[in-house]
Amino acid sequence: MHIDMNSGVRSSTKLAEAISLSPRERAGVRGNATSELPSTSIFASRLSTAKRVQAARRFLITWLVIAALNLTAAAKKVVVLGIDGMDPKLLQTFVEQGRMPNFKALMHEGDFRPLQTTMPPQSPVAWSTFMTGLDPGGHGIFDFIHVDKEKMTPYSSMAQAYPGGRPVNIRSWSFPTSGGGVRMLRKGTTFWETLGDHGLRSTIFRMPVNFPPVKAPGRALAGMGTPDLIGSLGTFSFYTDHRSDFAPVVSGGEIYEVTVRSNKVSAQLNGPVNTFRRFPSKESLELLEKGRAVSVTYDNPKMLQDFVVYLDARAGAAKFVVADQEFILKEKEWSDWIHVEFEAIPHLLKVSSAARSYLKQLSPKFELYVTPLQIDPEDPVMPISHPANWSKELSANLGRFYTHNIPEDTQAFNHGVLTAREFWDQMIFAYEERSRALDYLLQHQDEDFLFVYFGTVDQGSHMLWHFMDREHPGYVQDDVLKDGIARLYEMLDGRLGRVRQAIGKDTLLIAMSDHGFAPFYWKVNLNTWLLENGYITLKDPTKQESGEFFSNVDWSRTRAYAAGLNGLYVNLKGREKAGAVAAGPEYDALLDELERALLAMKDNRNSRSPVSLVLRPGRDFHGPEKDKGPDILVGYSRGYRSSSDSPLGLFPKSIFVDNRSPWSGDHCIDYRLVPGILPPHHESDTDARGSHCFAPARIRSFVTRRTHWQRRPGS
Ligand SMILES: [Zn+2]
Repeated sequence: MHIDMNSGVRSSTKLAEAISLSPRERAGVRGNATSELPSTSIFASRLSTAKRVQAARRFLITWLVIAALNLTAAAKKVVVLGIDGMDPKLLQTFVEQGRMPNFKALMHEGDFRPLQTTMPPQSPVAWSTFMTGLDPGGHGIFDFIHVDKEKMTPYSSMAQAYPGGRPVNIRSWSFPTSGGGVRMLRKGTTFWETLGDHGLRSTIFRMPVNFPPVKAPGRALAGMGTPDLIGSLGTFSFYTDHRSDFAPVVSGGEIYEVTVRSNKVSAQLNGPVNTFRRFPSKESLELLEKGRAVSVTYDNPKMLQDFVVYLDARAGAAKFVVADQEFILKEKEWSDWIHVEFEAIPHLLKVSSAARSYLKQLSPKFELYVTPLQIDPEDPVMPISHPANWSKELSANLGRFYTHNIPEDTQAFNHGVLTAREFWDQMIFAYEERSRALDYLLQHQDEDFLFVYFGTVDQGSHMLWHFMDREHPGYVQDDVLKDGIARLYEMLDGRLGRVRQAIGKDTLLIAMSDHGFAPFYWKVNLNTWLLENGYITLKDPTKQESGEFFSNVDWSRTRAYAAGLNGLYVNLKGREKAGAVAAGPEYDALLDELERALLAMKDNRNSRSPVSLVLRPGRDFHGPEKDKGPDILVGYSRGYRSSSDSPLGLFPKSIFVDNRSPWSGDHCIDYRLVPGILPPHHESDTDARGSHCFAPARIRSFVTRRTHWQRRPGS
């Protein structure tokens, strides 16, 4: 990368001013940073915290951009390790225990500090802010789940598929006249696009909420938010001859009943829906059979791939035959990636995928786990990388790898499909894949800026907390796993050490996290609380616990509902499908009332206050998206979190429930309780560079000046 050193934009401040004046920045960061929050508000202390978040985020992104510009001006590079969920207190504890020598060394070089996260402190939200410098009012990501208010159905906040043009139908075939696709829902300009505007190239590896990846100079592989082959955020398959051992429906997976006959199991991998085929729907066929005239409706069938397992109980092993491939697995053994193809149009169009299988048990029960079907990096059916062929290059050098959303299969563990040890092995496999990729990227880094994402600490902290915390209602004594989270931190420390060795002194290394962690002791069923407090009315109160996504709700007599992990919505006239609350004074009064009631909520079992913060995006956030998310964001106090039923529009009987599930640690609470980390590094090195210095103090003063400039009326 070359910056014109004679142009007079040599100092940090001027370089960054040049950035802040770019048209995209004008539309993005600047537009969202201008609103001064009212200091006279009765919520002044909370608002000043919101302001601090903004400042911290703006500080970080500005710092990244300036660091990259300055270093690369002197032919330097920047490497950022994005460690999802690394908690400053746990880090400090493990450092003090002498378990993290590399972090310790790094912390002594810079001025280590907690990093304010976003509200809500959910990964898609926090990473979107990290990459754009905008709060959710600007980037539009408020939660993992958003609500389609016309249909009153939930959808993934991160990306959305759209269908192809009106199809030409010929018998059982259907051919769209134009291609469908998938679009990212996050708004705003990423910092690496800004770097690109200034001639810098970046490699962005597995950044969350970057699917399909933005097309900036350099390369990118999509991360969290990337679907699996069937379009879900990760659906495992489990084949067993004891289906009744498991819940009838499990989130994140499908459990199939199979039969062992003559030491053989025949089953199928369930691929994506084949939009090229159509058959009359079951309902249409039934009506036609009864002789009732009806216009026929059609369904698209799923693509299937047969496979056979030959069991040899005496040898404790089984042979798998999938199409023309054969492999043998011993009991309790994982396969490597197996290439799987689904035929959409015979001899013409195949959809490529990959999966790993785990032979959990041969006998007395048969149990086989198969990972979510991956979009094959060697032949991707959707745009998972930029440029499109980069995933192919990675796969050629590293072998196939997990490409979907979050590889660590927490749901399989949560539902008892995998044990804690099996989950651990699967998680470490995914970690090692990332680790090998980082080595490869460091060896081949010809870009100016490298970001690599690690999700292991986050996912491990969610699932292993109850092994290390004796206070936890779901505490399990396990002499190995009680150290599980510490071991994950140690692994990242080892990784950091290797990166430090690999990069040398002329590369800036930043290790940061998007949020920290807290125990998850008690579940809150917020919709049940709304129901008991008269904000929701059910059509049939005797069926409180049945029905999907609010299907039993009488919307004409419902004023507010909760969806997502922190979101609360008013059932607003003209916005919701059957809105009941008028905009204006009625809406404002309801929000005031809800805010007071939420903060006054008590858990009578222990006299605690489960809610410690309420934000109102329409009032507290900035930018064109601020009215498109929830009307209220609920910040739970330490130990509490939303249940996983309530965000899906369900109404369990009790408002508060002890959490005994393996998902035992969390961070989707009051953001002030779960900051991330930001250890600035190599400060002494950079101080020696004179005008190229990007020491935090200088950047802070720059941010202050820039903020004042942005807030000047009429500027
Ligand atoms: Zn998490």
